[in-house]
Amino acid sequence: MPLLIQNARLVTATSDQPGDLYAEGDKITTLAAPGKLDPADLPKSTTVIDAAGKLLMPGFIDPHVHIHLPFMGTFAKDDHPTASRAALVGGTTTYLEMVCPSRDEQPLEAYELWRDKAATGVCDYGFHIGVTRFDDDVEQQLRTLVADHGQRSFKVFLAYKGAFGVTDDELYNVCKLAAELGVIVTAHCENAELVAANQAALLAAGKVGPEWHEPSRPVSVETEGVHHFCTFLEMTGATGYIVHTSCRDAVEIAMDFRARGVNVAVETVIPYLTLDDTYAQRNASTGHDAFEGAKYVMSPPIRGVEHQHYLWHALAAGHVHTLGTDHAPFDFATQKHIGCPDASKAVDAQFNPLGEPSDFTRIPNGIPSIEHRADLLYQGVADGRITLQQFVAQVSTNAADLFGLHTKGHLAPGYDADLVLYDPDAPKTISAQTHHMATDYSGFEGVTHPGHATHVFLRGRAVVEDGKLVDELSPGQAAPRG
Ligand SMILES: [Zn+2]
Repeated sequence: MPLLIQNARLVTATSDQPGDLYAEGDKITTLAAPGKLDPADLPKSTTVIDAAGKLLMPGFIDPHVHIHLPFMGTFAKDDHPTASRAALVGGTTTYLEMVCPSRDEQPLEAYELWRDKAATGVCDYGFHIGVTRFDDDVEQQLRTLVADHGQRSFKVFLAYKGAFGVTDDELYNVCKLAAELGVIVTAHCENAELVAANQAALLAAGKVGPEWHEPSRPVSVETEGVHHFCTFLEMTGATGYIVHTSCRDAVEIAMDFRARGVNVAVETVIPYLTLDDTYAQRNASTGHDAFEGAKYVMSPPIRGVEHQHYLWHALAAGHVHTLGTDHAPFDFATQKHIGCPDASKAVDAQFNPLGEPSDFTRIPNGIPSIEHRADLLYQGVADGRITLQQFVAQVSTNAADLFGLHTKGHLAPGYDADLVLYDPDAPKTISAQTHHMATDYSGFEGVTHPGHATHVFLRGRAVVEDGKLVDELSPGQAAPRG
């Protein structure tokens, strides 16, 4: 149905001006000065929306989510129907999920499995192809995924050796192939051996609670991973992307390599901008549940507050390019408790049948946040820490441009009519009682954000009206890459 949005403030990564937008079918057709598009000249079926006082932005893009995720002996709690609805409520109309085969699975089969699951959601989607081993057979399949299935990004883990992690030899070959094929390599950068050694030392000393997760993966371990990855990019000429960068030191290493001509972009994720290491230290002594800290266990870990401040500055300075979530949703009451040291609370009989005392190394990693990424980043606009243009670039445009989502991320004729109408003065408070994600907790419980998306459109169709999902949602589509 044709759509006319009038009196909006059109905000893009480079501009901010009053105007009207007209979309016919699934594309943006016309942008015009206020009042220049007369509804009388448009089809009778045109939906007309008065957007006075609101920001009109391109649909948000989350470049880093996990939804179908077998991980640490369990499965992430959301499926695509729940995660994609939560995403839409928060203005995210496209997400990029990681295809995550284990070392003994075939990349092509994994891609087909992940693709079929993603098609059950109501957001548009794309993938990073996880490369968890590299040999001649895998190389052929990766070439097929790029040539015949339009894939444009790989993902490697320097951490999680023995599960998803690659060896240096494999990393070199993935980067070389990516450089040849012109695809981008995204990487989880932590030194796996150092993590394992730190974990063993802490456990041997009886340090088993969630508060020891951060000390087991300190800043230096992440920084080494970033330096390591960037060295391989430099050697091979590949283009890289560092996912979930948590700290000052890691960003600075990436900046050093950029200054030397290495093509590497940096992502941070919303938990690092809003939480700090004291959250994982929450327990009975701070007046919380004894195992509360497990809610905030992710890798790399949430750092001290000085890193949070630094990351906001890095966003404002353009040293961090995109904001993702690393959405990896696990229930607190059951799944997070797989890593509970108190045997009587380690409730998951399947994974801990003897009720043995467990420890922080077995806590499923992740903080559900696909729904609230943009709302929480918008706090930075309200506080003057980043500009509105930077906000749009970080939640949408930069990810579209980096990952070849060439129909997304811009407000211009010919682009998909993925649109967010955002009321900057309409606060909402986050709660697990009201969120749309499937998890039983929110890492941002009780946080009030200053604005929210009142209307969201996906390829010209209304998916959110007055802040609520519409009843009839159509399936999402694979977003074209180029
Ligand atoms: Zn991730």
